[in-house]
Amino acid sequence: MHVLILGGTTEGRRLAETLDADGVRVTSSLAGRVASPKPLPGEVRVGGFGGADGLARWVREHQVDAVIDATHPFAGTISFNAARAAATSHVPLLALRRPGWTPVEGDDWHPVASLEEAARTVGRLGRRVFLTTGRMGLAAFADVSGAWFLVRSVDPPEPPHPARMEVLLDRGPFTLDGEREVLRTYGIDVLVTKDSGGAATAPKLAAAREAGVPVVIVRRPPVPEGVPVAATVGEAAAWAAARAG
Ligand code: NAP
Repeated sequence: MHVLILGGTTEGRRLAETLDADGVRVTSSLAGRVASPKPLPGEVRVGGFGGADGLARWVREHQVDAVIDATHPFAGTISFNAARAAATSHVPLLALRRPGWTPVEGDDWHPVASLEEAARTVGRLGRRVFLTTGRMGLAAFADVSGAWFLVRSVDPPEPPHPARMEVLLDRGPFTLDGEREVLRTYGIDVLVTKDSGGAATAPKLAAAREAGVPVVIVRRPPVPEGVPVAATVGEAAAWAAARAG
């Protein structure tokens, strides 16, 4: 049994660990966006496949029996490529998606459909923006006038990006105390986040709630139609075990 995990997430890593410990042959695929990713068990390949056809070819050439798309909920292209590649190569596909966040009492959330809409929204909510949407989508905020940005990312961002910004290089998990400190130290009055879900980056939401800071939250793209979804690593591992039969 050879399982290809499309990774780049905490869940992808934990799934690789679980399957590897169960004696399953695992290959984790990373896009190569992070300069020094944490080590993973099993085999690892890095870089794009060359679209859905390239992925289908890779699956055939490496005798992959099942694909688990454990990419980030906002990595929409690779998920659609995986759906197409699985259909053409007749290999079962599962999407592993941690549930999104839901607001609780005291939250002041402003849901938007895209980073572009987030950029249009921040200006009317605040002037000192904590931007936690990653370094890849900064171009959307490059033309927001009158605002200063604190950009948190794993690796340094490249232009285009907002003219007035400071970069905080860091990688989750983050703590509530740490997030309170960030909001206080930088005088943040609006937070921007994707609805990534999961515990590792959730403390910023609690810190924003406590401080009365509004949150612009970018909604997730849909999972490709017809692809079954697992919410936890355990469910995904059970799915793989059932395929191994
Ligand atoms: P994307 O827009 O869906 O993918 C763009 C292209 O990158 C894909 O067409 C594919 O190239 C390649 N790619 C993406 N994920 C890959 C993987 N796991 N293995 C091999 N190739 C991959 O993805 P993205 O938003 O740029 O994210 C890239 C990676 O970063 C993903 O693996 C994701 O899990 C991780 N990540 C993303 C976010 C986010 O907010 N988007 C946050 C945290 C982590 P080809 O077409 O050439 O195959």
